[in-house]
Formats: sequence, structure tokens, C-alpha cells
Amino acid sequence: MAAILRFAPSPTGLLHVGGARTAIFNWLLARKLKGSFLLRIEDTDRLRSTREATDQILSAMRWLGLDWDDSVQLQSESSPVQIETANQLLATGKAYRCFCTPAELEEKRKYAEIHKINHRYDGTCRHLSPEQINKNLQENKPFSLRFKVEPGIVKYTDLIHGETEIDNDTLDDFILLRSDGSPTYQLAVVTDDHTMGITHIIRGDDHISNTNKQILLYRALDWEEPVFAHIPLILGPDKVRLSKRHGAASVEEFREQGILPEALFNYLCLLGWAPGDDREIMNREELINAFVPERINHSPAVFDYQKLLWMNAKYLSNMALNELMPYVNQWLQEQNLKVPADRQDAFKLLVKLLQPRSQTIRKLTDQLIIFFRQPDSYEEKGVKKYFNKATYAGLLFEITAELKQSGSTLFNNIEELEKAIRSFAEKRDVSAGKVIHPLRLALTGKTTSPGIFEMLYILGYNEVINRLDRAINYIREQVMV
Ligand code: GLU
Repeated sequence: MAAILRFAPSPTGLLHVGGARTAIFNWLLARKLKGSFLLRIEDTDRLRSTREATDQILSAMRWLGLDWDDSVQLQSESSPVQIETANQLLATGKAYRCFCTPAELEEKRKYAEIHKINHRYDGTCRHLSPEQINKNLQENKPFSLRFKVEPGIVKYTDLIHGETEIDNDTLDDFILLRSDGSPTYQLAVVTDDHTMGITHIIRGDDHISNTNKQILLYRALDWEEPVFAHIPLILGPDKVRLSKRHGAASVEEFREQGILPEALFNYLCLLGWAPGDDREIMNREELINAFVPERINHSPAVFDYQKLLWMNAKYLSNMALNELMPYVNQWLQEQNLKVPADRQDAFKLLVKLLQPRSQTIRKLTDQLIIFFRQPDSYEEKGVKKYFNKATYAGLLFEITAELKQSGSTLFNNIEELEKAIRSFAEKRDVSAGKVIHPLRLALTGKTTSPGIFEMLYILGYNEVINRLDRAINYIREQVMV
């Protein structure tokens, strides 16, 4: 039998990384078993579901490379089949009409609260006689449909938690159809999973109590039940469920922070799962081959942002320039910046130099501004060190004069630039650093940057001279007063 897996998000907000990890695990298993991966949007909560959230979830899935088979299904569209399922249970005596009014139910709930007893529906309508039922129906009394939970212990095997027992005594006669005729979550999920032929369901631990009810429905309907695997939650470093409060919790936020889809995908796979050897950086093929749901950890996984950054930096530094340029081009577009045709190579060199020095795409593109704009300011500790010491400032004045004199051809070649700067330092009998540090600060505003000779080449003669003149003015006007 072909494996059919699914991801079934509720479109009530951005895709949480916990949801993304659930989707990834289902996707990996579907691809590993050469089965299908389906996407169902659980939009039955009319008040909380939005079109915008659906679009965002789809976009986050596409970004992560989680392709789904067939068209996206909307749970709300299959309510006729769900209602049919409920009626089937009613016809076989496994569900019953409950005529209790909301006020009556509320009173019972309050009573239980006051007397500190576990509240469960007391089954009043379970035992109505056919005459009473008919009378109520004739009087057009609204009713909901409840599932009849029979006493006993029900067992199923969870791929991660192993043999699991459900004590039916802990369950309510839960509602299948509300009095307005709308299907509840339990009914909708079981009907849809059955209709879609779902064979495996990997989802969060928070669904275990739903699974208990859903297993009973499968058995009452005599439907083959899928294999369940419940994965633990993702926690923040404070051991509380990961949320925006921890910095970022949705795929969208990580994307905005400059995390690469491949890195987030790889990182999320390793959150609570491991291949069983010491591999960490794994591509999609390797992950598909290695993925075994039974190896998913029982205990909650703690999200380690530093580790994600580490992994992202690895992916970033391994990217080919042509994979990286679309991100850079998008940034250029957003900033409304253009690289002149004759400066393309210099600009690409800057991108390449920043690549291994940046943990995220965001950090890389943020630094590209140096190509287009003079520094807004000079780093304070740099100013103290290199601009207000006479030796350094003096060397900066002199190297500026010398570069002006050698003219623009020197800037065609990185090695020549290096030679010129080094021989200048030798002639002055100072270490090259004494020239390089103030130069870097003058050109970039910072005390760290890619190699200074490359930076001189990348910025080009005119820009370098402009920036040096500006720095000299700054030193004269602000520092040496
Ligand atoms: N719609 C549910 C959720 O977003 C998932 C239901 C399921 O996986 O069965 O939590």
C-alpha cells in the first residue's frame, strides 16, 4: 500500500517552526517511502482562519521546498462528507442526539466546578427513549450529535511513544456535530484523513488527547487507522514553548532575519531527531535516506539559535555565487540601488569576501551598503585608537597624498595596491598595520572589514580618494581640535 502523509495546519497565523518541523517530518517520510505528501488547510474555525494566513503558510512551505502532491484541500469544503460520517455513526447506534441546552450544560459544568469534580458530560441524552427523541424532534428542539464512548481500555502503538493505552473512562461523550449542524474538529479530521487515504500521521504531542478520541472513531467506523507518531514540542532556552518572545518562532521571521531555507530545513530536522551517526550538515537526499521516525526523541527539544546561526553560516559559505546573487539582487532592488556596469566585478568580489564572514544573508547584505555610501560615522573605539593619535593620522594624510599621486591605474590590481601600501610603510619605517588600520576606518567606518587591499580595489580610485579626504576633514575638524 502506498504511503500517504499529510500536513494539516490551521490557518490562524504564521507557520510556527514547530509546525514547519511537523511538515518536514511528514514530507521526509512520504519521500522516503516513495508515497505522497498532501496538504490540507484546516479552516473550520471560521472566526480564526484567514485567507492571508493560508497564503502565508503556503509561501513558507514553498520557501522551505516542501512540495506537496495534488491540490491543496480545504477542510471546510468536505463538510458534507463529514456530516455523512456522523450520520453513519448515529444510524449504527454509536452516536446519539443530545438535546441538552447550552444553559443546562453550563449549569452542570458550574456544579462540577463548585464541587471540584472532574467535569464530563453526564450522558443524560444517552438513555432517551425513542419516544422522547421523536417528541423532541417534532418540537424542533435543537440537538448536537455525540459519540458514545464505551467503557474500556483501548490500545494503539505510537511510532515514538510505543504501546499507548487510552482509558475510555477519562473521555467525554464528545460532540461530533454541533447543534448548528457543523462538524467538530475530531469528526472533520478523521473523516478527511480517511477520505484522503492517510496512512501515517506525524504531529505534535499536544494532539495526543485528540488521537485518543480519533482512534475510537476509526474503530467505531471500522476504518483502517493510520500509524501515529507524536513528536515533542519545541521549547525556548527557558524551557517554555518557543514563541516570538524568544526572538523568532515563525518560518517567516527566520526568513526575514536572513536564514537560508536549506539551513532552517536541516536545523529543524535535527531538532529532536538525529541520523544515528555524527552527521549534522545533511542535504535533502541524505535526510530523506536517513530519516526514521522511530529515532525521534521523546523529550522536548530546545531551540538553539546559535546552532542555527552556525549551520546557516556553513550553508551560506558553501553557496555558489550564482545561488547567492538572487538574494543580493533582491536587496539591491529593495534599497533602490544599482551597480554600474563597469563596477559589477568589484561588487561581486565584495559579495564573495563577505560571504564567509557573515552568519546570515541579512548580515551580508547589510554590509554591502559600504559599496554605495560613505560611512555615516566612524566606530568610536577606532577613532580613539587610529584617528586621534598623531602618528596614525599623519600616516593617513601621507598615504592619501601618495595614492593621489600614483593615480587611478594603481587601482586596477590588488597586488600592486598591496605592494604600494607595504612599501610606503617600509619607507616610513612603520609596520603595515599602522597604515592599514586608519585606512580601513576611513574607508569603511569600521575597525573590521574584508582585506584592505581588496577593499581599495573594490571601492576604486575616485571613491577611495573621496572617503580619505572626508576622513581627513573629519580628523581636522572633530578630532584634532
Ligand atoms: N490543524 C491541526 C493543527 O494545526 C493539526 C491537526 C492534525 O495534524 O491532525 O494543530
